[in-house]
Amino acid sequence: MSGNWAPGHSRTCDARGDGFVYLVGAGPGDPELLTLKAVKALKRADVVLCDDLVSDQVLAYARPDARVVRVGKRGGCKSTPQEFIERLMVAEARAGRVVVRLKGGDPMVFGRGGEECATLAAAGIAFEVVNGITSGLAAVSALGIPLTHRALCHGAILVTGHDASCPPREGGGPISWEALVRTGLPLVIYMGVARCEEIQRGLLEAGMPGSMPVAAVANATRPDQREMATRLDRLAGDLRAAAIGSPAILVIGEVVKLGTRRSLPSSALVGGGYDKSPQEFQQGALG
Ligand code: SAH
Repeated sequence: MSGNWAPGHSRTCDARGDGFVYLVGAGPGDPELLTLKAVKALKRADVVLCDDLVSDQVLAYARPDARVVRVGKRGGCKSTPQEFIERLMVAEARAGRVVVRLKGGDPMVFGRGGEECATLAAAGIAFEVVNGITSGLAAVSALGIPLTHRALCHGAILVTGHDASCPPREGGGPISWEALVRTGLPLVIYMGVARCEEIQRGLLEAGMPGSMPVAAVANATRPDQREMATRLDRLAGDLRAAAIGSPAILVIGEVVKLGTRRSLPSSALVGGGYDKSPQEFQQGALG
């Protein structure tokens, strides 16, 4: 029954004794945020194919004799083509090995997990997806922001900022800031820091008020976490001034005002609103 993958059932049997692939979310950085399932998979792995956003402390759960291949798009090695990663994953599994494909955050949130599942399914390889805590939610929690506070909103949107300035794509199209703003929901923006000017402009032109609270969190849950609070009409300038770089999450919405930042060490604080006490903060420290 190997490789019989159906939506909703990401696990298949391994009746032929073939290899197995775990698509594992490594979470945002803090190794204590790994799931028990992720640790178990790592301990089983013969081969770990690892993205560059994954911290070494997470990799430490792999067996000492496991082969670790860094297939990141940045960092030490140059960009590894997606097809190469997928071919390697299939080849290792076909050779009978247990493979962990280790990705930052959650494999199915801006992680190309869908493509990798499709490749494994097409190749008839048994696999399982192991969730990780996605960085967008980790960033929000790190600041004590109640993302879907019932007094303010009935949902939230996870969106990439990467396409902010791209022309329409076939089958995709650019982000519709108007559509996002119309929902009135808080936005959690991944891959947005490099495009913060376009994001600021797009949202303002779409009618979002310049006073809308914004938080930015870089390296969420890592020892080098940094964050700042500002407002939409000062976003790009303040991000540059605070030297907040990638990887970072932007959170835009009224709920940002409710951030209590309880979990933050004071040494990590930079920039605007988060220099205030939670009380001052809630009383409109963001202006
Ligand atoms: N699958 C990942 C997202 C990969 S896209 C997840 O679920 O988190 C890469 C983007 O994720 C980065 O540009 C950044 O916006 C965000 N990111 C990943 N790790 C982060 C971290 N520790 N802190 C803040 N942002 C992070």
